[in-house]
Amino acid sequence: MTDTTQNPPRPTPATLPPLPIGSTVGILGGGQLGRMLAVAAANLGMKAHIYCPQPNSPACEVSAFHTIAAYHDMKALEKFAKGVDVVTYEFENVPAETAKKISRFTQLAPGEKPLRIAQDRLLEKQFLQSIDIAIAPFKPVRTAKELDEALKAINVPAVLKTTRLGYDGKGQRIIRSDKDTSQAFKELAGVELVLEEFIPFEREISVIIARDQHGNCAPYEASENIHKNHILDPSSVPASVSEKTLALAQTQAEKIAHALNYIGVLAIEYFVVLANNRQQLLVNEIAPRVHNSGHWTQDVCPIDQFDQHIRAICHWPLGDTRRLADVVMTNLIGDEINTFSKGLTPNQYPHLYGKSEARSGRKMGHINTISPRNI
Ligand code: AMP
Repeated sequence: MTDTTQNPPRPTPATLPPLPIGSTVGILGGGQLGRMLAVAAANLGMKAHIYCPQPNSPACEVSAFHTIAAYHDMKALEKFAKGVDVVTYEFENVPAETAKKISRFTQLAPGEKPLRIAQDRLLEKQFLQSIDIAIAPFKPVRTAKELDEALKAINVPAVLKTTRLGYDGKGQRIIRSDKDTSQAFKELAGVELVLEEFIPFEREISVIIARDQHGNCAPYEASENIHKNHILDPSSVPASVSEKTLALAQTQAEKIAHALNYIGVLAIEYFVVLANNRQQLLVNEIAPRVHNSGHWTQDVCPIDQFDQHIRAICHWPLGDTRRLADVVMTNLIGDEINTFSKGLTPNQYPHLYGKSEARSGRKMGHINTISPRNI
């Protein structure tokens, strides 16, 4: 007889039925990612309801419904959550109380845990360490004294980062020598910080992965990412890394998705480092959402990251993530939007975000350039 006290049967997780066609997908955030998610929802027979504070946002233009209200407006959030069948988000800085409020009335996918972890670099690093994923050496820093202590453990060059609200290189300073220390601290002090070793990486790659409620995972091939002025540009597939490195990046992404009990599309950014002539991976950060480095999937994969996310959060089976051609994704930044169409070639697929004002540094659209040699 089985001793069930020692080996209790594992509880079967509750399984939610697929959302029927005509259901409403709530999306927090009205930017370009929300826009592309809303279009994907519509293509799958769903209705999108955008919740964001800014009127005339790119996502509202293409959505069945929208609510313009602050993320802290608890009354508006309750009404929104009660009127939709599932809620997802296009950015990771959704306030914790907003996520909590929504979870009281409807399903939030991905849930509160991935949000909490991805919002805080320190929590993120501790989480990754706890599941044996390699990352850059780091130390938490709150005071000038703690920074001095941290610099004894972490050699310069090092990167001082705010633990929260950093994106596209904002909220970080490189410390190259002792004389940079006090200036870097002065510029970032007042919030919790983390000091991490500067990684002389060979290249940067990322993996976009989808996981469904049953734990099935569907990773896309890793893309190679170059940043200009801290903004991604371009992102190319295939990446110039070994088969082994590609496979390892996908395996690690799967491990992270399982540990977060994740539902939806998740992005993992890696540094590829050469050690003893072999490529090794360090995770830089995770983003619990569709991602700029996954836009290439739109024109070369049977199911792209946006459709895949909607499928996962609506509990539909995940789709095919194979890559059918080589591709380079380039962002259109600022006034590049005004000139790109002149030189467009037949193998270039533009995706524009409908933003009226082309401010410098603003992402206005992107182009996927396809080389069909692998078809
Ligand atoms: P993050 O906001 O942490 O994703 O950083 C933005 C970009 O800054 C990364 O994609 C890297 O190109 C660079 N970066 C961040 N942290 C480090 C590091 N520890 N070492 C070297 N480069 C870094």
